[in-house]
Amino acid sequence: MHEKGKLRKEIRLLKDQFSREELTAMSETTIQKLKCSLRFQSAKTVMMYYSLPDEVNTHDFIHEITADKNVVLPVVIDHENIELRIFHNSDEMKYGAYDIMEPTGEVFDKYEEIDVAVIPGMAFDRNGHRLGRGKGYYDRFLKKIPNAYKIGICFNFQKVENVPSSEYDVNMNEVIS
Ligand code: ADP
Ligand code: MG
Repeated sequence: MHEKGKLRKEIRLLKDQFSREELTAMSETTIQKLKCSLRFQSAKTVMMYYSLPDEVNTHDFIHEITADKNVVLPVVIDHENIELRIFHNSDEMKYGAYDIMEPTGEVFDKYEEIDVAVIPGMAFDRNGHRLGRGKGYYDRFLKKIPNAYKIGICFNFQKVENVPSSEYDVNMNEVIS
């Protein structure tokens, strides 16, 4: 746990060195690569995340892909769990826990239909290990969608040599930065 906390702090310091504008520009590079992924292209139902200001920006991209994919987003329901709701448009969104925008539409529970899950993180390594913000929400949720292809998404500086990992941590199938 201590090791994970140390890495989170290191990444936070790195993030602070970039302006919002720089992070936005870097986000476009990452999103472009995600668009090129054949796994992503062929997915019909994708779990995305609606980004916070310090994460790879997904806002425009989510609107764009809604034209030909089903997009579902996490909604925090308590101190440990998320559920999914279908994203329709920005009018059907409100701020939830942690100041994350969440859809207000219907709950999505056909988990087996999720082809690809795009997951943010504080850090990732080459083996797909993921460091989150320290609450384990994704670790708990991703166990419920074992067959979805999991793509970790981050800025280049968030790719590290080794992410400390425990039995609870769920690995990514691929990391795009
Ligand atoms: P994050 O993945 O957000 O970086 P951690 O991996 O540090 O966070 O996990 C945060 C906490 O959640 C840890 O105390 C961990 O033991 C707990 N946790 C993670 N997944 C599970 C799970 N499936 N069941 C119970 N506790 C879990
Ligand atoms: Mg974890």
